[in-house]
This record gives sequence, C-alpha cells and structure tokens, in this order.
Amino acid sequence: MASKSDRITTVEENLLKAGEDNECFKEKEPLGSNSFRISTGDSSLRNEQAIQPFQGLKLASHNVLERAQLTGRLKCSKCCGSRMFYCYTCFSLVGVNQEEIPQIKLPVKIDIIKHPNETDGKSTAVHAKLIAPDDVTIYTYPCIPEYEDKRHSVVLVFPGPGSVTVEEISKQLLEVSQKRSSASLEEPCPKRAKHDAELKDAQGVEGQQSACPLQRVVFIDSTWNQTSKIITDERLQALLQVELKTRKTCFWRHQKGSPDTYLATIEAIYYFLKDYHEQCLSQDYQGEYDNLLFFYSYLHQLINKAKHSAGKLN
Ligand SMILES: [Zn+2]
Repeated sequence: MASKSDRITTVEENLLKAGEDNECFKEKEPLGSNSFRISTGDSSLRNEQAIQPFQGLKLASHNVLERAQLTGRLKCSKCCGSRMFYCYTCFSLVGVNQEEIPQIKLPVKIDIIKHPNETDGKSTAVHAKLIAPDDVTIYTYPCIPEYEDKRHSVVLVFPGPGSVTVEEISKQLLEVSQKRSSASLEEPCPKRAKHDAELKDAQGVEGQQSACPLQRVVFIDSTWNQTSKIITDERLQALLQVELKTRKTCFWRHQKGSPDTYLATIEAIYYFLKDYHEQCLSQDYQGEYDNLLFFYSYLHQLINKAKHSAGKLN
C-alpha cells in the first residue's frame, strides 16, 4: 500500500498530466476582484496576483478537499470509475459529502451543452452542477432542448458578430417579446393568447415591470475547435447571443489557438452571473456566486504547486 506522500504525489502527477497538453502554460490575468482592472502598470502586484489568483473571493474552506485528496481516488458508486472529489460522468460527489461542500442558488437557470467528444475529466461544467444542482442542467449534444418558443427569456453566451453585452440583455429581450407580440396580432386567437401570456411573463407579474426578463442562460462546454458544430445548430440560431468581453482566462489548460478571453466553462458562468447581478439586477456584488469556483480554485492551486515543484513555472 502506498504511503501518504506517495498518494499525494500521484494526485498531483495526475492533475499535472491533465494540464500538460498546454505547453504554453503561463499565468493569465488572475480571477481575484483586482483582476478586473486589466492594468499593465504594477508588475509586482501582477506577480502577487499570479501567486494568489483567487484572493479576495469568498470561498468555502478547502479542508474537505484536502482530506479527500489524502484518501486518494475512490470508486464512483454509480459507474465504478476511479475518481477524485467527484465523478465527471455521473455528476456526483466521490469521497466527499454533499453537506461538506458549498451549495448556492442562482438567479437564473443554466443549461450547459457539452460536446460528446469532450474529454469529460477536463470539463469544468460539472463544477456548476455540483455547487448549484437545482439550477444547472448538463446536456450532451445533439440532445438539447428546443428554445424556439423561449427566445424572450433565454440567451446563449457565445461571442459573435451580433452578440450583445450582459448590460444590454433586458432591453434586447423585451424587444424580442414586443416583436413577437405584434407579429402575433396577425395570428389566429389561440396562438395570440399564448404570445400575450409570454409577453406578460417577460414584463413581470401583475403589471410590475421586472428588471430583466431573463430566465435561462445557455453555455457551450467544448474545446474551441469543436464548438462550431454546436453553435451552427439551427435550434440555437434564434437565441440572443451574449458576449463576455473583458475577461481573460486563468484556465491552466489555456487552449492553443484560442483567444485569451476564451474561458473555462465555470469561469464563464461565474463572470456572467457576476455581471448579471450588478448590471441587470442592479445589486452590489458581495461574493454570492464565488463558490462556483470552489473546485476550480482548488484544482488550479494544486496544479500550480505541482508545476512549481516540477520546475515548469518560475
Ligand atoms: Zn460515476
């Protein structure tokens, strides 16, 4: 049987191996709140942030993950796969109890569409499902929902020529509702009634103008190259596209040939929600969604440590 230190090494080696396809690994702009200012001035501050990229986030204690790491890999009770912390196939925890990890409620529903060829172990989509199980659904392409009737309340986070900013979502969705409503005046009665009900939905209950008609946000979880097939699927064509413009990734598996702003799925969800909270709900952000990065921040630190000890990072 392996000693404790052997097991730790194995974990780090595994994680390091997972990150190794990125030969150009280097620290990007960190995730901490200071990182939102993409300054070029103070290099000592930037170095500090590179060492502690998650500083300033309100994260639950990682003690539970440290303990699970000492135990080592265990069999997933559902698929029997050998896993650490969670099973990326079954979306369930392994060696960690539900009560021990943070759980949060999101202000909108999240649909994540995964590419079937995506190597599951590298996907961060499962992090969202584990931390916000009531609000997150993961679909494997091509099995995705029909959004055609929900264009007034659903957006797709993906950059493109017609994409809008998070701040513009409310206005754009209300315009979709109004267009549909006036088009429906030409329609026979039952269909018109349905559209009228949708418009009322979008505008809020009993005449109250709700701040934002958004109810569901769709993310695509796949490598940069595989995404094009999903994005051109006609079921997604009608959706308003939203772009997260200013974020730079701190993903340790930064993908070759992708722009710096290409985010890990969990980063994209986090940044979207933070912007949505401030710009659409007009509320002060006080770390409400920081724990979405609970697993991500731990794995990131672990990989950095392993890279340091392997002498790959200065
Ligand atoms: Zn499993």
